[in-house]
Amino acid sequence: TVQLRTLVDVVRRHAVQQPDVVAMVCEGRRVDYATLHRVSNQVARALQAAGLRPGDRIAYLGRESEHYYELLFGAAKTGVVLVPINWRLAAGEVEHILRDSGAALLFVDSDSAAVAEKLAAELPTLTGVVGLDGPGAAGAGFTAWVSAQPDANVLARVTPDTPLVQMYTSGTTGLPKGVVLAHRSFFAVRQALASAELDWIDWREGDVSLVGMAGFHIGGLWWATQGFVSGVTNVVMREFTTAGAVELIRTLRVTTACLVPAMLRLLLAEPGVSKEDFTSLRKVVYGGAPISAALLARCVEGFGCEFAQIYGLTETGNTAICLPPADHTPDSGRMQAAGRPYPGFEVKIADSRGEPLPPGEIGEVWLRTPAAMVEYWNLPEATAKTLVDGWVVTGDAGVLDEDGYLFIRDRIKDMIIVAGENVYPAEVEHVIGRHPLVAESAVVGVPDERWGEAVHAFVVPVEGQQLTESDLALHLRGKLAAFKQPLHYEFIDRVPRNPSGKILRRELRERFWQGHERRVS
Ligand code: ATP
Repeated sequence: TVQLRTLVDVVRRHAVQQPDVVAMVCEGRRVDYATLHRVSNQVARALQAAGLRPGDRIAYLGRESEHYYELLFGAAKTGVVLVPINWRLAAGEVEHILRDSGAALLFVDSDSAAVAEKLAAELPTLTGVVGLDGPGAAGAGFTAWVSAQPDANVLARVTPDTPLVQMYTSGTTGLPKGVVLAHRSFFAVRQALASAELDWIDWREGDVSLVGMAGFHIGGLWWATQGFVSGVTNVVMREFTTAGAVELIRTLRVTTACLVPAMLRLLLAEPGVSKEDFTSLRKVVYGGAPISAALLARCVEGFGCEFAQIYGLTETGNTAICLPPADHTPDSGRMQAAGRPYPGFEVKIADSRGEPLPPGEIGEVWLRTPAAMVEYWNLPEATAKTLVDGWVVTGDAGVLDEDGYLFIRDRIKDMIIVAGENVYPAEVEHVIGRHPLVAESAVVGVPDERWGEAVHAFVVPVEGQQLTESDLALHLRGKLAAFKQPLHYEFIDRVPRNPSGKILRRELRERFWQGHERRVS
């Protein structure tokens, strides 16, 4: 068969070869591949009728729905670039993204309609708002907007290098930047695995794939597109809830899913849920944030299926590194690794000049991948700093072992320097997390008169359990070098995280740094 290389090829092929297969289920509504093709044709026509041309931007601000993917495929057919926006953002942040991208049309659900109306009045580039929940909500209403159009193919020139989406980094490390990704970013991993006949991550006929991560982050979007490319059924969650995910897995017999570690932890802790609820699962892919060895071991046991870890960034079009299922055994010694590159992908640990360091030495992770971003939108200087000679400079600290397995330490910007020694918060969190009464923890650097910086640990005890500072100090003794041990502990109810499960360290750090200068932002 001819290789699929763009999302346009994908929907055309499946509409012909398997028109009745359900492409997605969202809140019980089913869309088959023939319908996805038809509606996306109509979207493409409507975009053209609205005067949009290849390279123009449209934005989506709302919970997940089938319309998000209908827009994605429709935009793809015309060469229009889709800008998904996190609906949890404040109005000012949404405004930044709309201004920066220059989006001409905004699709909103009713929860965001008020923000959209206000911004439409203020932004000259934003010429239209279309409500996703029907005519009353905002603008004309998506269904009315598409159904006025004929179902006819649009003939725009679309290649693997044509920009498809512009995704804004969550800004855990600064002002959100628009990462431009082309079609090829969504095909590279499967092509690499297929060419080497590896089944680290795979989709089979009849698979039912849970899309539990938000589509406005690369993790969710990447996973959903993999399902579409494979022609399987995607179960799209409007918004992740633990009970909702369990219910869908059980009733729709979900076979595969991609989740962040925080979601896995919640699923295992959900009252009344047991291994029996997960019998349909064949393979779970996880990543996006560090996972502790303890949690991973509990997952392997509690879900009773295969696991594959992925590591990557929005800038690398999601995953460049994978820990295959076979390495998910405690005696492999690799349960703490992020994995190794897909065939044809490369990783190096670099010093501050970009020169490779030998195995065992910690440095910055650089990735060379065919899925890398095109650029940061309108930011040539930032692009030049991140895309260097075909490599993506990740900002993560890591180390390779002799077998080429990558171990992620942490974001370099989150590194704590205690009297000249580097401390990676994730390492400290891992060890704290091994205490049986700790539910989760978050570690940050705070200013310290004596040592420059000190390690400060926020700890969430297991519900109903008493935990003291001295319990933890005792637990860490002998397990962590003295300079890595927290100088202060603070007990909290919940670790603040962004929707992709990342700890919001900047938020936790803020109050300590007022009036102090931090080395890096
Ligand atoms: P910003 O760069 O503004 O913080 P972001 O948080 O959205 O944006 P992403 O591109 O979503 O950034 O996340 C990429 C980061 O997630 C990686 O650089 C790494 O720190 C972390 N990460 C992803 N996968 C893993 C993994 N398997 N193990 C550990 N960390 C991971």
